[in-house]
Amino acid sequence: MNRLCRIALFVLLGGAALAPRVAVVHAQATNSTASSAPQKVELLPGLDKQLMDTTADPCVNFYQYACGNFAKLYPIPPDKSYYASFSIVSDYTQSILRGLLEQAAQKSAQHIANEQKIGDYDASCMDEDAIEAKGLKPLQPELDRIAALSSKMELTDLLAHYQMINVGAFFGFGEQQDFADARKQIAVADQGGLGLPERDYYFRAGDDAEKTRKQYVDHVAAMLQLLGEPADKSAADAQKIMTLETALAKVSMDITSRRDPQNVYHLLPAAKMTELTPAIDWTKLFADTGVPGITELNVANPDFFKGMQAVLESTDLDTIKTYLRWQLISSIPEYALPKALSKEDFNFNDHDLRGQPEQRARWKRCVAATDSAMGEAVGQAYVAENFPAANKAFMVQMVHDIEAAMGTELEAQTWMSDPTKRTAEAKLHLVADKIGYPDHWRDYSTLTVVRGDAIGNVLRAVDFENKRELNKIGKPVDRGEWITTPATVNAFYNPSMNDINFPAGFLQAPYYDSHATDAENYGHIGAIVGHELTHGFDDEGSQFDGYGNLSGWWSADDRKKFDAMTDCEVQEYGNFTAVSDVKLNGKLELGENTADNGGLRLAYSAFLADAKRKGIDLDAKQDGFTPLQQFFLAFGQNWCNNMRPEEIRLLVQTDPHAIDEFRANGVVQNLPAFGEAFGCKVGQPMMPVNACHIW
Ligand SMILES: [Zn+2]
Repeated sequence: MNRLCRIALFVLLGGAALAPRVAVVHAQATNSTASSAPQKVELLPGLDKQLMDTTADPCVNFYQYACGNFAKLYPIPPDKSYYASFSIVSDYTQSILRGLLEQAAQKSAQHIANEQKIGDYDASCMDEDAIEAKGLKPLQPELDRIAALSSKMELTDLLAHYQMINVGAFFGFGEQQDFADARKQIAVADQGGLGLPERDYYFRAGDDAEKTRKQYVDHVAAMLQLLGEPADKSAADAQKIMTLETALAKVSMDITSRRDPQNVYHLLPAAKMTELTPAIDWTKLFADTGVPGITELNVANPDFFKGMQAVLESTDLDTIKTYLRWQLISSIPEYALPKALSKEDFNFNDHDLRGQPEQRARWKRCVAATDSAMGEAVGQAYVAENFPAANKAFMVQMVHDIEAAMGTELEAQTWMSDPTKRTAEAKLHLVADKIGYPDHWRDYSTLTVVRGDAIGNVLRAVDFENKRELNKIGKPVDRGEWITTPATVNAFYNPSMNDINFPAGFLQAPYYDSHATDAENYGHIGAIVGHELTHGFDDEGSQFDGYGNLSGWWSADDRKKFDAMTDCEVQEYGNFTAVSDVKLNGKLELGENTADNGGLRLAYSAFLADAKRKGIDLDAKQDGFTPLQQFFLAFGQNWCNNMRPEEIRLLVQTDPHAIDEFRANGVVQNLPAFGEAFGCKVGQPMMPVNACHIW
């Protein structure tokens, strides 16, 4: 999802249950084929009065006041499950990338290495006729390999291969920075193998949950049928797959528990894997994936591997082979598949789960796919023409201002003991700022892209990336590495690196607008910078020290006080209703909500310092608003959004961010300066007596 966020703790190869679904998905630009009127793709200004509903009372419902007209002006296009102010920036960026890729495709004949590759990748994705003509032939060797399995003993080789080509069968295997010693890069094995968005989808009670499970089984059956199975067999097979996945889900950890790094970190001798899952020859699997001789690894969830052994023992080989066919086909991105399969993938993943009426235009999916496959090659071309030096200079200053505000905030905490405070300050000083794009570009010279071979390109690109990741094991950490592409419209905090990341794609209006007032820029991008920085000190990030090590740098007493304070936000957000019977999950969202609240507070302090420095008159109205009102309105307009109910339901169950309305309202009601700026009275909804304050 493209919610403004930080990365998940670590990203595995092939592990379907992990981060990739939470990571960035670009929202898309105008749909050239959609029947409805196209959305306008013009960046919003720092403060857009047109979006406001001035009949609403900002003290009662600030979101409605700041964003009340957004839904009218920007109805959700049929090829989207939501439309947000965020989407406008993504749409804009995507139309730029489209032009850039089309140009690169034309230059292909000139053989300029990277440009040829991104051009060919995009062109192959766009070549629907070639994809249709080839059908499933490119996957035949993979299907033959499954068919040839004659015993469970032979699974090791196949599952090792699957880790390299992102087939998420059973489990995930990859690389991460060692939580305990961030200088080390180690292997990690984690739970996986599910096809529904999250483990609780297999067990949740209620009509909606039942309906989703039925839709899922129908979808699996439809895909198997498209692979050539007769209808009655595919229906029975889909049921068997559901039973197998449910057994894996049963031994999987839920997303809320997974937010605590202690729960997903178990550094164990490599031999332990054989003890947990003897059905797999782990020594061979490590060697097959190119990392022989591993002596230790993070077994993120040991109970899962124990449970997986039982599943492997109790499931017959035919069912396993059917499950592998399903996992294989569902791992191939839909754009590379023939039309009937692509359509069926859309039917479940976008239509049923998100309520999206129409599939996105192919060019949009191809732009996103190319950025995902070769993000730094795309990014290098993107920043060359779309990231002025002035944007970077502004951002460097903004980040320093917000970091200074965090220093003041830390110093002001009366509940925190001096030793903990000193370590917190040390951590703050060690935060690395990554702005725009990396200093060193990734080398794609060993990646082959073949024009006209969409599936082959997918498999080669993921294999290239997985080899690159696994190759890091045992080597020193490259602290300059970027984990996100430069054209990404999002921002991140990475606790193991202790860095905050602001890709070039994000540094555009309205987040940063050179024509906007300082108040507006601090309200927009300042609050986001504050958000990412606060992640270093939320319930999860605060368990890591300044060097990125998971270490107990807090005194037990301080931690106890901190946990008690966070409870206020767990309660506050847990009481917000997202849609009909669904409330927000205050515990799952705690880190993001802490970051949202800290982010606005830091941006507010930094803006006050900026105003003082520049002599900005805080009482002088400009265009009808005081600078502080502009500041809060700009912040509120970060979250203008219009969502389909299905999308809301999906997000509440899978996404650690609050629904956008509450990312505005839930936050301003905790900052009394907001109520003061709009003349609210204590006791009104946006100025409650029991405001929460963590950072
Ligand atoms: Zn975040």
